[in-house]
Amino acid sequence: MPTALISHPDFLLHDTGPFHPERPDRMTSVLTHLGVSGDVPDGAQQAGLLCLSPAPADEARIKAVHDGAYVDAVADWCGMGYRNLPTGDTTVSSSSETVARLAAGAAMRAVDAVLTGEADRVFCVARPPGHHAESDRGMGFCIYNNAAVAARYARSRFGLERVAVLDWDVHHGNGTQEIFEEDPSVYYFSVHQSPLYPFTGSESEKGTGEGAGYTMNVPVSAGSGDEVFVDVLRGKILPAMKAYRPDLLILSAGFDAHMDDPLSGTLVTDAGFQAMTGLVLDFAEDTCGGRLVSVLEGGYDLEALGRCVADHVSMMNA
Ligand SMILES: [Zn+2]
Repeated sequence: MPTALISHPDFLLHDTGPFHPERPDRMTSVLTHLGVSGDVPDGAQQAGLLCLSPAPADEARIKAVHDGAYVDAVADWCGMGYRNLPTGDTTVSSSSETVARLAAGAAMRAVDAVLTGEADRVFCVARPPGHHAESDRGMGFCIYNNAAVAARYARSRFGLERVAVLDWDVHHGNGTQEIFEEDPSVYYFSVHQSPLYPFTGSESEKGTGEGAGYTMNVPVSAGSGDEVFVDVLRGKILPAMKAYRPDLLILSAGFDAHMDDPLSGTLVTDAGFQAMTGLVLDFAEDTCGGRLVSVLEGGYDLEALGRCVADHVSMMNA
């Protein structure tokens, strides 16, 4: 089955200004390195990939993970010309709520594709990213939590029993953790630099209530490189994930642990991300029928981001 790519030109409309780390140029760099245009009809083939076009997530799907009052407020703030979400450090423009809804819709479209057999593996080139967005607040450049919307959608629409979310963005995905903290049907795994924004994700945070034991955090120190990240995946995260037997793996794929990234102190190389991708692909193949939805999160050195995404997608498509 083919590997699919999901993108849309409207992701460029979330205007954070030319100097913000999470700016539209990120997406342009990714698409250029992939050798594709973000503006193609649904089902077109480009660079050996099946290109799919997303629709905005319905309000009900967003509200399945976010508080209704927060979702309504985001639309109001963007409509009123706010430049930042009052809930946290996320720059917005007038189109941002609509674009954020489309980013969540892209992750849902990816779930549809892998669960209806259109594709085995899907990569979403979408922005804004999502993993810092908690149920009632956007922060950390995120508005809605795309991976979380996709995980809950996979559960409710397709009846999956267990979904794993693996987050290798260099920052802890406090939002995804918070949304599923009490939910054993979505197991959240994170490897991230500590201390670093948002200063959550200690090893002792393991979920609460019925979700106790279904959150795994592995903080690593600044200076950690390929060997540390690969060892964490191979030695800690993947064995626990294997025991969980997920029906679907959603990867919160940030590439900001890269040595060239301006927002982190870790030293992962292009080869490190290739090795991590290989481990995840083997895992998906062995454990969840190859079903992998990979969603772009961070990554702020334009060249490193473009190269690493291109490698990641080409390995998915091999
Ligand atoms: Zn990040």
